[in-house]
Amino acid sequence: MGANPTRFVIIGNGAAGTYAAEQLRKDDAACEIVMIDDEKYTLYNRVSLPRYLKGVLLEQRVYVRDQEWHDKNRIDLRLETTVVQVDFEHKTVTTEPGGELRYDKLLIATGGRPNPLTCDGAANAKAVFNFQYFDETKAMVAKIPESKVAVILGGSFIGYELTEAFAFRKLETHWLMRGPWFLRRALDEAGGKIVTLLGEDAGVHFHYEEAIEKVEQANGTAKVTGTSGFSANADIVGVGLGLTMNIDLFKDTGLDTKVGVRTNEFLETNMPDVWAAGDVAEFYDVVSERHHRMGTWDNALNHGRHVAKNMLGAKQPYIEVPTYASGMFDSNISVMGVTTEEEPEAEAIVEVDYEGRNYKRLFFLADKLVGAMLIGKMKGRKKVLELISSRTPIDRREMGGAIERTAYLGDALAAAGIAALRFAFRIESDAFAGLAETGGAVRLLRAHAAIPQRIGLLGWSFGGAVAALAAGRDSRIRAAVLVSAPAARDYFGTAKPLAEVTRTRAKVLIVRGSADDVVAPADADRYAQVLTQARVANRLVTIEGADHNFTDPARRAEMLGIVTSWLREALAA
Ligand SMILES: Cc1cc2nc3c(=O)[nH]c(=O)nc-3n(C[C@H](O)[C@H](O)[C@H](O)COP(=O)(O)OP(=O)(O)OC[C@H]3O[C@@H](n4cnc5c(N)ncnc54)[C@H](O)[C@@H]3O)c2cc1C
Repeated sequence: MGANPTRFVIIGNGAAGTYAAEQLRKDDAACEIVMIDDEKYTLYNRVSLPRYLKGVLLEQRVYVRDQEWHDKNRIDLRLETTVVQVDFEHKTVTTEPGGELRYDKLLIATGGRPNPLTCDGAANAKAVFNFQYFDETKAMVAKIPESKVAVILGGSFIGYELTEAFAFRKLETHWLMRGPWFLRRALDEAGGKIVTLLGEDAGVHFHYEEAIEKVEQANGTAKVTGTSGFSANADIVGVGLGLTMNIDLFKDTGLDTKVGVRTNEFLETNMPDVWAAGDVAEFYDVVSERHHRMGTWDNALNHGRHVAKNMLGAKQPYIEVPTYASGMFDSNISVMGVTTEEEPEAEAIVEVDYEGRNYKRLFFLADKLVGAMLIGKMKGRKKVLELISSRTPIDRREMGGAIERTAYLGDALAAAGIAALRFAFRIESDAFAGLAETGGAVRLLRAHAAIPQRIGLLGWSFGGAVAALAAGRDSRIRAAVLVSAPAARDYFGTAKPLAEVTRTRAKVLIVRGSADDVVAPADADRYAQVLTQARVANRLVTIEGADHNFTDPARRAEMLGIVTSWLREALAA
């Protein structure tokens, strides 16, 4: 060991900085560790702030490490100290207060700061809060008992956390977002609708395509005027408008920055002996084969531990599927890997169940699964994570869901000699939109000279109910297959598939799985009953043990065999 131990300097004592310091001490008993942060707190858990805001977690439980821990581990923690300059050539940082400090190896773990509300009157409004730091959370906690009305702006996770906490605290809660739904770049309209349903169940008032134009102080409250007609006297205004990475101090230094600090897969920057970790690191991700940033606690923690080993000479690539799990009102949301937020080019497939408030969206780049979003049931999460991290080429049909259903159904029908036009509904919530799309498909088939006029319909789940409606309304349909079809749902509105299907001239095949966990198998009995009463030729088939999606290949094959041979016969007659 040399006379001078290596001096590691860490800027930022968040999860990335502190877990890096911990790992450095574990692996190098002799080194010097200096960690600098401009806040006044030892490491606290930002992920716990929402529960503290809700009033279900005590202040002491938000802290993760105390001063004693730093002393014991000989980590020289300098709080309320700002790094104002870094000289990469001479390997020094300048702090205020403090002055110049030499480093051998430097870790940048400066995270991001919240974007403020910049509209008229917002700058000095006492009722307006961001949600990133302990201090502003404490200020909100102090204000809530005297508050009745809360307004939140921001259609992302921080906006959600504020909304959920205020609604939980029984404030009249108005959630404004500039986009048409929550997480508009990662979720599609159906996912947005599930979030709306969950929020409405919790008493939240949603205001889409709305922002704040003006805030005026009035008798201790803030009069909030929206850009599209919203107006309220709010006691508390929460703002979640994203983060700006803390990279300003590196301007003109030659450090490679874009949105954050760019690194390679080892979390090394372009400067010698300088690494970056956590929210601020725009790292090369070997899983998705691109640079991106991750704003999650687990990523910051894992980056911290990993980068410490590399700073000590390991040179291992960082390979971890980023995950973000959070409550979503009375349910849960989980984000894995990359989504269309980071990769707008990713192709997405979706499965949605409004009744059960369940949603699954999978993201692909070429034949690899790169990310997923789940709301509600978390079943299958582990498998999805495995597939993302193993980067196994995937046949999407094995993933379950609407698009794959149409794919293998199309194959089975073609193999049975039945020409098929297959499509997935653009919106799976509106029976009339579904009917219009089905009508369009039927018209397209009829207009095709080479296609015989013997036309049948096959619909699955929501599509099964639409097929029932369409067969009742179009007397030219010869055969209708209803697979896993619900008999009644709130979102059918005034459409009544159970009543309307009795007017059909078609023969009807009803197929259900006995283990369907989305649509009660008894719904199939209801279809069979009304059809029999109306003297419509129908057949009810139950595939024992099959679930809603006929996931099991043997049961699916059985179902496809029955459906195709029945359809061939029904259309030939
Ligand atoms: C309310 C809230 C809820 C969240 N919920 C979740 C969740 O449910 N799940 C999840 O995975 N993630 C969640 N996150 C995100 C997660 O907390 C962050 O991704 C993580 O804490 C980032 O850690 P970090 O160490 O990279 O950065 P930070 O924690 O931001 O730490 C950086 C530190 O550096 C300091 N600093 C910056 N510049 C300087 C400078 N020049 N000199 C000195 N100090 C400086 C900053 O003040 C800060 O203290 C949530 C975040 C918030 C705010």
